[in-house]
Amino acid sequence: MAEHLLKILVVGDGNVGKSSFVHRYVNGQFNNAYKMTVGVDFSVKVLHWSDKEKVRLQLWDIAGQERFISMTRIYYKGALGCVVMFDVTSSASLLSCRRWKQDLDNKAMLPNGDSIPCILLANKCDLAERVVSAESIGRFSEANGFVTWMEISVKDNKNVGEAMRRLVEEILLI
Ligand code: GDP
Repeated sequence: MAEHLLKILVVGDGNVGKSSFVHRYVNGQFNNAYKMTVGVDFSVKVLHWSDKEKVRLQLWDIAGQERFISMTRIYYKGALGCVVMFDVTSSASLLSCRRWKQDLDNKAMLPNGDSIPCILLANKCDLAERVVSAESIGRFSEANGFVTWMEISVKDNKNVGEAMRRLVEEILLI
C-alpha cells in the first residue's frame, strides 16, 4: 500500500473559522469554545484514498498567529497545498486572502518552483448576515490563481470533507 504524506497549511484572518475547520475535519465535531492547544503544530488525518493508496494529511493551522501576516519559512517548508479561508460576513477577510496568496506564492514553492495548489474557502455560509456574493468570490478566486473555491459551513458540516478531498485530488496530480 502506497502512503502519501501531505503537509497542508490552513491560513486566513483571525476568527474566520480555521481552528473549527481543522477540528471538524479531524475530530468530526463543532463547538464554539474550541481552540487548538497552544504548542501543537499540526493535526493528522488519514484517508483511505483507494485500494492501493493511503493519504496521511498534516494540517498546519497558524493558530492565533494571524497578526504576523507573513509567516516564517519553517511554517511553509515542505507544504504541498493550502486552504485559504475567509468569512462570508466579512469582506475584509476576503480581501486579506490576496496577501495570504501572495505570501504563499513567494514562500511555499514546490521543488520545481511552481506555486502550491491553494483552495479558497468561503466559511460561515449558514449565516444570514452574509455580505460576500458567490459572483465576487468566483472572480476573486480566478484573479488570484486559486485552483478552485467552495462555500462551506463548518458549523453545519457543509462541504468540509468535500473541500479537503478536492484539494488532495489537486495535490496528487502534481
Ligand atoms: P480562527 O481564529 O480562524 O481559528 O477561527 P475559530 O475556529 O476560532 O472560529 C471563530 C468563531 O467562528 C468561533 O466562535 C466559531 O465557533 C465560529 N465559527 C466557525 N465556523 C463557523 C461556521 O461555519 N458558522 C458559524 N456560524 N460560525 C462559525
